[in-house]
Amino acid sequence: MRFLILLWALPTTLVGLLAAVLWLSFGARLRVAHGVLEVHGGKLALWFMRRGFAAIALGHVIMGFSASRLEQLRPHEHVHVRQAERWGILFIPAYLLAGLWQKLRGRHMYYDNPFELEAFAADVTTAKPPVRKQV
Ligand SMILES: [Zn+2]
Repeated sequence: MRFLILLWALPTTLVGLLAAVLWLSFGARLRVAHGVLEVHGGKLALWFMRRGFAAIALGHVIMGFSASRLEQLRPHEHVHVRQAERWGILFIPAYLLAGLWQKLRGRHMYYDNPFELEAFAADVTTAKPPVRKQV
């Protein structure tokens, strides 16, 4: 059964592997932790961090700013791993459409995205969204 789940999530994981190869070519490091590949560090990580991203999960590949930050965000990112396992090839389009739907409703693409809300709800320690002002 686990093999079928990995196979179902493979399209998203392949996107993650392509991104991982790119990150590794910019000096990132790779490790296997808790059943996924984790890529951290390097110049691309710095570029993403300056734009507000600490980590991203694409299937069974998680990329982040640093090894320690990945440890902190692991509960949140592993919710996205489970989502990719549930949604399979539809995960990336579903995630993007859910964000677009929120934007069209005048809400925030990221913080109101149901995929993110599920991940924030699962992580009671570090990955809570910041408090936003009411507009
Ligand atoms: Zn997230």
